[in-house]
Amino acid sequence: MHLTIIIPGQKIGPFFSGLNRVDKRNLPKQFNFVLSPSFHGASLLAILLNNHSKIISLGDTIPTRKTEDFSCSCGSLVKGCTFWRRIEDTQRQYNYPRSEHIAPLLPDLSLSAIERINRLNEHFQKFFSIWNFFPQKSRSFRKSVKAFHAETTSFHRKKVFIDGTKDINRCLCIKHIVSDRIRVIHLIRDPRAYITSLRRNFPKIENHSTLGSEMWKGFHGTVLQSFTGVDNCKYLPVFYENLSLQPRSEMKRIFKFLDLDEENVLSPPKEPHHIIGNRMITKFNGDIKQDSEWKRIMRLDEQEAILKRCDPIASLFHYRLEK
Ligand SMILES: [Zn+2]
Repeated sequence: MHLTIIIPGQKIGPFFSGLNRVDKRNLPKQFNFVLSPSFHGASLLAILLNNHSKIISLGDTIPTRKTEDFSCSCGSLVKGCTFWRRIEDTQRQYNYPRSEHIAPLLPDLSLSAIERINRLNEHFQKFFSIWNFFPQKSRSFRKSVKAFHAETTSFHRKKVFIDGTKDINRCLCIKHIVSDRIRVIHLIRDPRAYITSLRRNFPKIENHSTLGSEMWKGFHGTVLQSFTGVDNCKYLPVFYENLSLQPRSEMKRIFKFLDLDEENVLSPPKEPHHIIGNRMITKFNGDIKQDSEWKRIMRLDEQEAILKRCDPIASLFHYRLEK
């Protein structure tokens, strides 16, 4: 197959229309994502989503070739878990040496190249996709995503898969290469709570406050820029604070967004599932307590500095100083 040379204004050649037609019949109508930085309650949300009879969400960790000794929430180690073994077997043909995970999270290019292509695509997406210049890598990625989706839904006998890898580039690559229709659940949490968790979990890092503010602002700013007001992208912001205070009504909103009926999901995990990396999953009994310890331990001047650094996004999300 050869590339058609693009001349501005020219009708797009057969290669491009062909690429867009391939194998779409078996794909779901929309791909679903949860996007958030770490320590935003994504594991809690994954448990609640999984308790719905039609939803399967895997949390944020796809095993790497080095995490085979980690525990899966089904009770086995990753290397003994039937589900993850099946994913590894079926993904092997699409994976590439550079990939650290047992399934390729991104196409086989450097991260900086992927970021550049995704950025360019934002401008050109109505006319053609830059990804079409990488037909083999795009095809392999598309097949991998499709196989991952099919394996996961059929293994769990569920209909709706929610990609919880929290990777903005993966989400954009799927939008540009696999399906132009996506739904994004954007999980948001107070930057002061996020920085307190960073400090608690990574005590050796210095300047949590500045680093954490930058990461928080960078992530949420990119999500807002990439997924709001975009064609064929449905977007739903979910605040951790609301989710933990009014879980029932927040989950109702989320199910409506996903075109699903409401179910009571505030219970211990209903079926064995395969989430890696968070101990709360095995202990979860259906009760949700908001983690607001930061309010007690963070000094007001630090809070003020964080909110200032995280503006204008912190204000946009209504995070304010309470004196
Ligand atoms: Zn498992």
